[in-house]
Amino acid sequence: MATKAEEEQQSQAGRHQEVGHKSLLQSDALYQYILETSVYPREPEPMKELREITAKHPWNLMTTSADEGQFLNMLLKLINAKNTMEIGVYTGYSLLATALALPDDGKILAMDVNRENYELGLPVIQKAGVAHKIDFKEGPAMPLLDELVQDEKNHGSFDFVFVDADKDNYINYHKRLIELVKVGVLIGYDNTLWNGSVVAPPDAPLRKYVRYYRDFVLELNKALAVDPRIEICMLPVGDGITLCRRIK
Ligand code: SAM
Ligand code: CA
Repeated sequence: MATKAEEEQQSQAGRHQEVGHKSLLQSDALYQYILETSVYPREPEPMKELREITAKHPWNLMTTSADEGQFLNMLLKLINAKNTMEIGVYTGYSLLATALALPDDGKILAMDVNRENYELGLPVIQKAGVAHKIDFKEGPAMPLLDELVQDEKNHGSFDFVFVDADKDNYINYHKRLIELVKVGVLIGYDNTLWNGSVVAPPDAPLRKYVRYYRDFVLELNKALAVDPRIEICMLPVGDGITLCRRIK
C-alpha cells in the first residue's frame, strides 16, 4: 500500500514544477490534450507559420499561446469587432489572430516599443492578406493613448483592446482605455494570473521579472474587481486574461 508521502508524490507527478510555465492547468498532459485535439488541428496556416518563426526567437516566452490565439479569434468574431487596438505586439501572434477575425475593412491600431520583432512576423501577416488592417505605431503606448484621449472623436470608438505589454502600466492604461472603448464592449488585460505567482507565498522562488511585476498585477486585479464602470471575467486561458466589459 502506498504511504502518504508516496500518494502526495504521485499527485504531484505531471503537475507543473516550475512557476513560469505557459499553462495554468493542472497537468502538462491536459494542456497538451487541448492543443492537440482542438487548437493545432484548427490553427490557420499563417498562425502556425508565425508560431514556428517565433519559437526560434530568444524571447519566445512572450508570445501568446496558440489556445489563447484561438480564443481571441473566436471572441472577436462573436462581438463583431471592427475597430480594435493592441498594446504589446512582439512578433504578432495575437495581432494575426485578431487580423484574421476582423472583416476586410476592420482596423487594428497596434503599438509596441519594438518594431524589429513586429517586422519578423510581418511577412507572414502580409502573405495572409491582412496587413492592410494594421496600423503599427512604434513607441511607448502611454503618449499614444494620451493623444487618442485628447481627441473626443476617439471616445467610445474601439470595440476591443488587447493589453499585453508592460504590466506596471496596466492601471494607467485602464484610465485611458475606459474612455476609448465603446460602452458594451471589451478590454482584455493579459497575464492577470502572472505565471500563477498571484498566489505564491512571499518567499517562493520566483524569477526576477515575475517577482518584479507581481505586485502590479495584484494591484490591477484588485482595482478591476471594484471598478463600477466595468463588468469583469477572469479566465484561466494562457496566463490568465481578464475581460472587462464597459458598462458606463
Ligand atoms: N501580444 C504579443 C504576442 O502575441 O506575441 C506579446 C506581447 S509581449 C508579452 C509584450 C510586448 O510589449 C513586447 O513586445 C514589448 O516590446 C512591448 N512593450 C513593453 N513596454 C511597452 C510600452 N511601454 N509600450 C508599448 N509596448 C511595450
Ligand atoms: Ca501575454
